[in-house]
Amino acid sequence: MGKFRIEKLSDSKRAAIVVAFAAVLAAAAVIFVAFIIVRIANAGADTGAPEETDGEGGVVTSPDWIDVDLIPVNEYSRPGTPTDEIVGIVIHYVGNPGTSAKANRNYFAGLAESGATYASSNFIVGLDGEVIECVPLGEVAYCSNNRNHDTISIECCHPDESGQFTYATYSSLVKLCRYLVDLYGIKPEGVIRHYDVTGKMCPVYYVEHEDAWHTLVGDIFAEE
Ligand SMILES: [Zn+2]
Repeated sequence: MGKFRIEKLSDSKRAAIVVAFAAVLAAAAVIFVAFIIVRIANAGADTGAPEETDGEGGVVTSPDWIDVDLIPVNEYSRPGTPTDEIVGIVIHYVGNPGTSAKANRNYFAGLAESGATYASSNFIVGLDGEVIECVPLGEVAYCSNNRNHDTISIECCHPDESGQFTYATYSSLVKLCRYLVDLYGIKPEGVIRHYDVTGKMCPVYYVEHEDAWHTLVGDIFAEE
């Protein structure tokens, strides 16, 4: 057999090569489609966190006035731990006058890298009334000490040291609380301050002005 002899393929060999080539192509296509299906199936679950629920197993879709800007699951600000049944709302102030909701959200997100402390909240209400959701409903946030597991936490921005909320912040806080009260069937006594949990002066204006606090709770539960 000569070294450079070109063997003419028989028709049956040629057919066999075509079949083998087609089989390889088909296998590659099957693997590609399976890969895409797995990617799509995992798309909603790649945070590794439980789905946002209403406490009764139903999945919640946030209304469009809530800016859902979740921080990554991490040890310091979003442990990904499912809550117990939600029975209350704990209201806070950020304690950092003039800072925006976005800045506070980014601070919580940054703890994933810095590990400076354990802190976060489910929601932050900004100076212009914007509402950011950074830890989803159904997940524990690190905000209200021993009530983290059965309450929703809301941090509110404020323009100065007094801690009084702007009209826009106040209005959005009332709207957000009404939404959560309806969602979870929370009672007026379930809406509390961080102060009521630990004695911390938070939210300071509404601890120092008991009448303002009662007005706020009254506004949340007022008939529209
Ligand atoms: Zn607080």
